[in-house]
Amino acid sequence: MELSDIKGLGTARIKKLNAAGIFSPRDLLSRFPYSYADFTRPFDAKGLKDGDTASFIGVVSAPPLKKFLRKGLTLVRVTFDVQNAAAPPQKAVCSWFNRRYIAANMRVGARYYVTGKVKKFGGAAELSAPTAVLDDGSPPSVMPLYRPLKGLPPSVFTEALRRALEAVRIEGYFDKFIGGGGLGAAVRAAHLPRSLDEAAVASEIVTLDNLAFSICSFDILKNSRRKNRAFSYKHEPRKLQEFIASLPFTLTESQSAAIDGLVGVLRSPETMNSLLQGDVASGKTVVAAALMYYASLSGKQSVFMAPTEILARQHYKTLISLLEPFNVRAELLTGSLAEQPRKNVLFNVKTGAADVIVGTHALIADGVEFNDLSLVITDEQQRFGVAQRGALENKAVGADRLVMTATPIPRTLALTLYGDLKETRLQKRPQGARVTTKFVPAQKERDMLGYLKKCAAAGLQTFIVCPRVDADDETDLVSAEEYYAKIKPEFDEYGAALLHGRMSERQKAAVMDAFADGAVKVLVATTVVEVGIDVPDAVNMVIFNAERYGLSQLHQLRGRVGRGQNDGFCFLLSDNLTDAAKERLDYFAAVSDGFALSEYDFSRRGAGDFLGERQSGKTAFPVTPDLLKKARALASAALADPPSSARIAKSLSDLDAEYLGKLTLN
Ligand code: ADP
Ligand code: MG
Repeated sequence: MELSDIKGLGTARIKKLNAAGIFSPRDLLSRFPYSYADFTRPFDAKGLKDGDTASFIGVVSAPPLKKFLRKGLTLVRVTFDVQNAAAPPQKAVCSWFNRRYIAANMRVGARYYVTGKVKKFGGAAELSAPTAVLDDGSPPSVMPLYRPLKGLPPSVFTEALRRALEAVRIEGYFDKFIGGGGLGAAVRAAHLPRSLDEAAVASEIVTLDNLAFSICSFDILKNSRRKNRAFSYKHEPRKLQEFIASLPFTLTESQSAAIDGLVGVLRSPETMNSLLQGDVASGKTVVAAALMYYASLSGKQSVFMAPTEILARQHYKTLISLLEPFNVRAELLTGSLAEQPRKNVLFNVKTGAADVIVGTHALIADGVEFNDLSLVITDEQQRFGVAQRGALENKAVGADRLVMTATPIPRTLALTLYGDLKETRLQKRPQGARVTTKFVPAQKERDMLGYLKKCAAAGLQTFIVCPRVDADDETDLVSAEEYYAKIKPEFDEYGAALLHGRMSERQKAAVMDAFADGAVKVLVATTVVEVGIDVPDAVNMVIFNAERYGLSQLHQLRGRVGRGQNDGFCFLLSDNLTDAAKERLDYFAAVSDGFALSEYDFSRRGAGDFLGERQSGKTAFPVTPDLLKKARALASAALADPPSSARIAKSLSDLDAEYLGKLTLN
């Protein structure tokens, strides 16, 4: 079904939706609210605690106050007369930093629906950077809150969504077991709830359905694989030993054990289906290289798939340096290759001239034919969707499979995300470099920059990570573009650069190369630097709005530095810390074991941080250990029911398949 099948969606609107990454009714309907604001309860300013979420309906009572705090920092404060107040009459104060746009637009007497986080100053409570929606005459009692989509006006999005909800019928794969109105009713209620309770129940069903789908698809893919290998590898332990001896370092104990164990699996009669769980910088790449070398000894091809082009290129470089001395030929296949080089690569892959093929999901595109593919390794896999995994399986029927996680994942969750894979763990970082984590209050930011400059002068490098690409009116988060502009004059002589996901692959690669070569000393970036990047001279990691990230994500970021000989620092910058956030970050600063951090986050915040955008279902409902249990039960029920499992299996051979059931026009 296409967007154009939906009544009322014309070319102009569809163009706007496409620009924001929405290409189908499924895409549209699966943009779920990240939260809900409740306007049914009376607002009481006195009862508010730091970090609470508060919502009120209010009328602007005085012209917005603009206050210039310091260069680059302006505060806008707006006072409202609350209309849904607990007696006596109340005022509510909201503040925004650097949002002059808000001041320009809020008129005295205008009525707004406002929701946001509470920040206390002494006794007085304010809402800090809340979402404020002008009353347009159709007041909701519960307002769904959607993440803004770049270039897509919220009104166009909500209108398109409303029409899609009217036009589309959703048939879930688990409806029979869920009961009630099934997935269709839940999707509707998640978007248009009548109460917070209804929203919570609906989001839970959507999330549950999504998880169960993921579990079922793993199980089905696994069962469709041939259990016993059709060939055997030549066993040449001497050659593998030569390879290991040629490495520029000595393997850690757990690396040696992992290689021994996994080669053992390759030699066994069953095909490999393994998960290599490694802590950040524990040295997974070389384990992969050893296995691919082992496969090449028998004339077999291996594939190494990474989630981003930057990572694929980095792996490719590493593998060339490790493997070429042993006459193993590696090729790189990514989406940004020009036509002629791409043809050459495809030829070498097809004829078997290439032994090892590194790439992004371009590897699973049509037209890529392998010669004798026997080993498929995917790095940081939770970023790949079900459909992509299925497509890769189809290209490599009967191949051995190794999945490497970017960051440690709690055991129960790994079971759900990866199915029942045989797990190997790499625990510690091989290097001795220490990374100390420090909190930097706003007034110490200057000192920190001074220190970074000294480092740059000494040839040491720094990452500065910001949560946004550019400034916008929705949030006060530090943006990479703004911060880069701010520090560029000071750092220009040492090389400063900007890196974010909206640059082209080519631009990103050029910047990363300059950073890896040391020409750039300070890299201001978004979390595109999060996974896998390995630069030995990078010693400092600066993280703005650290409270925004899960501990595993922070651990990933911190793991980017201290990879070489030099000790490093991880600087956390965060205003507006709630007590809970402070406790979490304190734990992070004190603990360096990625497995411990992931368990901590999973037990307290749920699984959101470990799931790719798609897999998390993006609903406001957290994936908790308890919900996982329910999802597994639901999946088992469906798998045990032949018609249900047949329908799910059929959906997997369709590249467009994702969760959210089967969509038809009403
Ligand atoms: P990750 O597990 O995070 O993918 P990498 O494979 O990128 O880690 O390895 C991190 C860094 O450690 C790389 O620079 C790699 O060359 C180096 N390395 C890997 N194993 C060892 C080792 N046994 N001794 C010293 N350095 C190692
Ligand atoms: Mg890696």
